[in-house]
Amino acid sequence: MTEPKVPPSLHPETLAVRLAVEKSQYGENSEALFLTSGYVQPSAQASADRFAGEEDGYTYGRAGNPTVSSFEMRLAALEGTEACIATSSGMSAITLMLFSLLKAGDHVVYSQSMFGSTIKLIGSEFARFGVTSTMVPQTDLAAWQAAIQPNTKLLFAETPTNPLTDVCDIAALADMAHNAGALLALDNCFATPVLQRPVDMGADIVMHSGTKYLDGQGRVMAGALCASEAMVLEKFLPVMKNSGMVLAPFNAWVVLKGLETLDIRMRAQSARAHELAQWLAQHPSVAKVHYPGLKSHPQHALSMKQMSNMGGAVLSFDVKAQDPEQARSRAFHVLDSLQVLSLCTNLGDTKTLLTHPASTSHGKLTEAQRQVAGIGQGLIRVAVGLEHLDDMKTDLLRGLETI
Ligand SMILES: *Cc1c(COP(=O)(O)O)cnc(C)c1O
Repeated sequence: MTEPKVPPSLHPETLAVRLAVEKSQYGENSEALFLTSGYVQPSAQASADRFAGEEDGYTYGRAGNPTVSSFEMRLAALEGTEACIATSSGMSAITLMLFSLLKAGDHVVYSQSMFGSTIKLIGSEFARFGVTSTMVPQTDLAAWQAAIQPNTKLLFAETPTNPLTDVCDIAALADMAHNAGALLALDNCFATPVLQRPVDMGADIVMHSGTKYLDGQGRVMAGALCASEAMVLEKFLPVMKNSGMVLAPFNAWVVLKGLETLDIRMRAQSARAHELAQWLAQHPSVAKVHYPGLKSHPQHALSMKQMSNMGGAVLSFDVKAQDPEQARSRAFHVLDSLQVLSLCTNLGDTKTLLTHPASTSHGKLTEAQRQVAGIGQGLIRVAVGLEHLDDMKTDLLRGLETI
């Protein structure tokens, strides 16, 4: 759409606060929120040309909106891709990707540690339309390779994973996909482009839940796919126009403004998470801490290389216990003792949010499936926010000291 007046070759931090569609005639300094579903056409011929795709210009809310375009430009610049398409949520971004790239008879390889709804969407919903899939262990490259078939069109990974923060090798998976004539898509929710730019390591598509760190303050649902201009314009946009999974302009405005502080938030939250992880690892009531920034993490070296020497803002830990029943009651005790931090199913907020995966995100699994996934009854996930570290510790100690 309208090309922005920003000099080329600026740093990502600058683009995150500057890149947007051109200002209106009023010269607003903060980007305008265009709450409109339709656009008045300058002439019948211009309208015809816009509908035919021969002229730039907005036609209807399902096909585009200037506030949404601003968000798309900014996120593409941060991820280092030519283009981006925004969606109503992270799951609708994945739905748009699968609808656009796959047909009956195609095959997808993906990690068994991916986001729960992603697994259901690929393994159950798309299976009804004849798309087959194979789930593999997150970090086992040989298993990924072995799962590839002649009809494999897509490898889909997420790193670090939720809630155990397993890290997979993006460059290795990209090579594997390309050697098989397939694409690699990467869910970059946890690391964000501040820590990790998957396209720089060979990934073809970067998927986001804007609901998480891009908004950063737990206000709106949003999603996006970042990729080449050809893929966005020729594959994703036509499906988007007909399926209508568009991001609402208001939500686009919120995530657009969220991107302005993404860099400092990620660095600050990641630093707090690192300190909290080290502190928890020393606590006598804690059996184990899962955090890529710790030397004890099985993929620590790869994580530091792949994630700009930072571990991210999510960690999880197991409380010490003799059996699953005791573990569950101890974890519940820690969560019920909180007075400041939130017991809340979300992440990527400035507020620190804690969850009990075994009874929530992974509650539908059998105990045996949870054991395989490593999601014990004593596991607590902490999505670290921006509160003072001492206050986080004091709040956790309320429960940890009275177990
Ligand atoms: C939250 C999340 C999603 C789904 O995003 P929504 O915006 O909730 O639809 C996908 N992947 C990961 C890793 C997530 O954390």
